[in-house]
Amino acid sequence: MIGIDMKALTGETALWLASERYVELAQRALEMRESSYCPYSGFAVGAALLTEEGRVYTGCNIENAAYSVTVCAERTALFKAVSEGERRFSAIAVAGGKADGPAGGLCTPCGVCRQALREFCGPDFAVVCPITDEKGTLSELRIYALDELLPDSFGPDDLGR
Ligand SMILES: [Zn+2]
Repeated sequence: MIGIDMKALTGETALWLASERYVELAQRALEMRESSYCPYSGFAVGAALLTEEGRVYTGCNIENAAYSVTVCAERTALFKAVSEGERRFSAIAVAGGKADGPAGGLCTPCGVCRQALREFCGPDFAVVCPITDEKGTLSELRIYALDELLPDSFGPDDLGR
């Protein structure tokens, strides 16, 4: 918990106190930025997805010369996990920023990734967003519930009505 700005965890977006596990998850996401393939945007993103059983699957953004083929770090991690048989998740950490610098400011999942996560994750699924200082040191965690980032969402249950 050292180095984490607890004041940032008292706002309406903070549903949980940051646990050691979330700090570790955030560090994994920050490390995964180094694997990013982002020659077009120059924006490197890393993600680390935590299963309910405690396993972690990582991902990075992978761009393409045909831009629309690009996939985000969150979906890379999610699809790796689902393809390995995982179905139940408790949290994901996402870190993004210019490839030639530290993650820096807040980087939340895009709308497509929020919907992709919604397929497998409940409303209390935690989205952990690390913020770093200019040296790349973790300085703050913002933690959102998926339901907060994708309110009134459409999911698998809605097809049964
Ligand atoms: Zn995305």
